[in-house]
Amino acid sequence: MNNKTKWESNIIEKTMHTKDMVVITCSKPEGFTYKAGQFVQWDVPDKESKNGIVKRSYSLASSPHHENLSFCIKIKEDGKAGKYVTRMDKGDTLVFEGPQGRFCCNEETDESLFFIATGAGIAPIIGMIEDQLENKKTDKRIHLLFGLRFENDIFWQEKIDHLLSTYNNFSYQITLSRPEGTWDGLKGRVTEHLHEHDGNHSFYLCGSLPMVKDVREILKEKGVDMKSIHFEIF
Ligand SMILES: Cc1cc2nc3c(=O)[nH]c(=O)nc-3n(C[C@H](O)[C@H](O)[C@H](O)COP(=O)(O)OP(=O)(O)OC[C@H]3O[C@@H](n4cnc5c(N)ncnc54)[C@H](O)[C@@H]3O)c2cc1C
Repeated sequence: MNNKTKWESNIIEKTMHTKDMVVITCSKPEGFTYKAGQFVQWDVPDKESKNGIVKRSYSLASSPHHENLSFCIKIKEDGKAGKYVTRMDKGDTLVFEGPQGRFCCNEETDESLFFIATGAGIAPIIGMIEDQLENKKTDKRIHLLFGLRFENDIFWQEKIDHLLSTYNNFSYQITLSRPEGTWDGLKGRVTEHLHEHDGNHSFYLCGSLPMVKDVREILKEKGVDMKSIHFEIF
């Protein structure tokens, strides 16, 4: 068990994908192992707290077979971690504990995998999808429904398109709840696009509490067994 060990990692790259969505790539400390979908707890420097740090949870957006770790973080300007991430730079050291969490793919079912993410909720989900396709070489059908607000919020499109062109068993949809101008893709919240899909799936949801609640409610009404619905709330 390594979940209480403090790990130190070097920031290799920090990329602002949109105005408030940043992807941090950092080195994988020797001996650190995790399952796709798990999260770690960062030590966030904080002068106001007694021991000078506060803990914040961040999902691993990388897959265990990747050389480095990555995180996908929505920066909250007034947030303690938000301020830390804003000033964080290449070469800095990140300290974290973990991994933790059970938001991982159930390997004991033949059901196809249906992932639903909103915003930074894509973090654990992209790691799980890459793990299934690239690492485990699954032949299960995998679908991703990714909800964002505006067209400018879209990120990782190239990464997702690459999966689409490489794996026949992968498909995805991006839906915008506040599309503007020329957007001719899917519109509306993820909840508006669940009725298009039938069949037996294991569902993996990640995003805000209202999204997870609403999606679970709809899936329940559709007769989906609650045991087939896995979720992580940010
Ligand atoms: C299991 C798990 C995994 C997670 N994974 C991710 C992930 O992969 N990516 C991700 O982006 N998030 C993730 N989160 C959420 C993350 O842990 C943080 O909660 C989030 O990043 C906000 O942290 P913060 O320190 O920046 O904000 P906090 O300091 O906790 O502030 C929270 C909110 O309060 C507001 N606030 C703070 N101070 C004030 C003030 N004085 N006046 C008014 N408003 C104020 C902030 O703007 C912010 O909106 C995860 C959470 C969990 C539980």
